[in-house]
Amino acid sequence: MRGKFRPRSGCVVQAYRFALDPNAGQEGALRSHCGAARAVYNWAVSWVTASWWQRRAEASYGIGEEGLTPWRPWSLPALRKEFNRIKTTDPRFAEWWEENSKEAYSTGLANAAAAFDNYAKSKQGRRKGRRLGVPRRKPKRKARLACRFTTGTIRTHEPTRKLLVRIQAGTARLLSATVRYERGRWFVSLQVETAREITRVNRPDAAVGIDLGVKHLAVLADSSGQTRYEPNPKHLDSALKLLRFHSRRVCRRQGPDRRTGRKPSRRWEKANRERNKLHHRVANLRADALHKLTTRVRAEYGTVVVEDLNVAGMLRNKRLARHVADAGFGEIRRQLTYKGRRNACPTIVADRWYPSSKTCSNCGAVKAKLPLHVRVFTCDACGLVLDRDENSARNLAALAAACTTGTGVAGDQDTPRVSKPHGADHKTRRQRPGRNTGRGGRAGGANLPHPRRKETGDHRQDTEAQLALW
Ligand SMILES: [Zn+2]
Repeated sequence: MRGKFRPRSGCVVQAYRFALDPNAGQEGALRSHCGAARAVYNWAVSWVTASWWQRRAEASYGIGEEGLTPWRPWSLPALRKEFNRIKTTDPRFAEWWEENSKEAYSTGLANAAAAFDNYAKSKQGRRKGRRLGVPRRKPKRKARLACRFTTGTIRTHEPTRKLLVRIQAGTARLLSATVRYERGRWFVSLQVETAREITRVNRPDAAVGIDLGVKHLAVLADSSGQTRYEPNPKHLDSALKLLRFHSRRVCRRQGPDRRTGRKPSRRWEKANRERNKLHHRVANLRADALHKLTTRVRAEYGTVVVEDLNVAGMLRNKRLARHVADAGFGEIRRQLTYKGRRNACPTIVADRWYPSSKTCSNCGAVKAKLPLHVRVFTCDACGLVLDRDENSARNLAALAAACTTGTGVAGDQDTPRVSKPHGADHKTRRQRPGRNTGRGGRAGGANLPHPRRKETGDHRQDTEAQLALW
C-alpha cells in the first residue's frame, strides 16, 4: 500500500498536461504498456477474489473457520511478490512480460491494490461518496488506456519550455508521468512538485457569488454590487444537428455485432471515427471555456462563493441531464476550488439547503416557494424586483461577507460565524427523519435544521495543513 505523497513544505504537487506526438513505434509501445497494465490489474483482481469465492464455497460445505483457504493479501508488495513469482511460469505472462518495462506492471498492481483498499474503506464506512463494489476485471473494450511511468522520454506535441526552465532552475521536480489515450489522442500528465507561487489576485478583498444555471452559465455578483452574466455556450446543443447526421450515417453502415461475431466494415469505422471526432471537439471546447472562466474569476476575486449543487441528482432528471452535463457544473466548482487553493484564496460552498434563490437579497425575507419557471424574483416584503439568478448570486456574495467579517481574516475558515439567514429553516419541506444524512438528498426538497455553510471539499485536516503551510 502506497502512503500518500506529501510534498516538501512550501511546495505543491501540480500536474502539467501535454499532448503527445508518438511515432508508430512509440504508439505501439504505449499501447503495449497500457495493455500490460490492464492484464496485470485483471490478474491481481482475480487472484485476490478467487480466495474469497473459495472460502465461501468451502464454508457452504461446512468447513470450519480454521480449515478455510487463507485470505490472500492485496497490498502492493504482496501482489508484486506473487506476480514476480508467477510471471515466468504462468502461460498468461511467460511469453511476453519481458517486452514491457516494469512500470507497466507496477501501474496495474498499484491500481489493483488501491481498488481493494478503496473497497475495504468504503465497506467500513471510512470513505466518502457512494459505496464501492468489489473490484472487477477491466474488459478490453471499455478500459481506458493509461500507464504511469517514472522514467523514459517521448516527444510532446506542445512546448514544454516553461516546465523545463523550472526543472533546470531547481524549483520543480518531476515525480511521475502518466500516459493516457483520451479523445483520440495521447496525453502525458506530469506530476511535478513545485515551489508554491502565489499569483496576485486583482481584488483580494472582494468576494463574488456565483449562481450556476442553464439559461446563463453563471451569474457573478460581487461584493461591490456589480453583476456579470456569463452566457452558456451550449457546445453540445450547437453540435447536436451535426451529430444526428453523423450518427445516422454510422447506423446505416455495417457495424460490429458481438452476438454473431460480425466485424465492422471499413466504411462503418470511417464514419464512426468522424462521429467521435465531433464528440471530442465538443468536449475540448467545453473544457477550454470552463478553464478560461474559472481562471478569470480566480484571478480577479479573493473569495468565491458557490452553491453545493446536487449534480448527481440533477443528472438523474431526464429533462435537465443533458443541459447540466453540457454546462459542467461539477467541473466549474472543482476548478474554482483548486485554482483558489493555488493562490491561498478561500472558496466557500454554501450549504445544499441554503435558500439562495428564495431569499431576498435586499431585505432577507424568504419566500416559501419559487418555482423554477419564475425567472424574476419579486419580494413581497420590500418590493424588490430582480432577475432570479442575479438575486441568488447576490445572496451568495453576501454569505462571503458574513463569513469573512467574523474573524477579519479572509483565509480563516475554521470558525464558521455566518449569520443565519432569516426563516430559512422552516420554509422548505420537512424530510423524513433517519434519512437526513446531509448528502445525497433530493435537490431543494429537504432541509437541515440549520442552514450551514462549510469549507470546500477538503477535510478539516487538509485545511489545517494548508494554513500551516502558508
Ligand atoms: Zn425584500
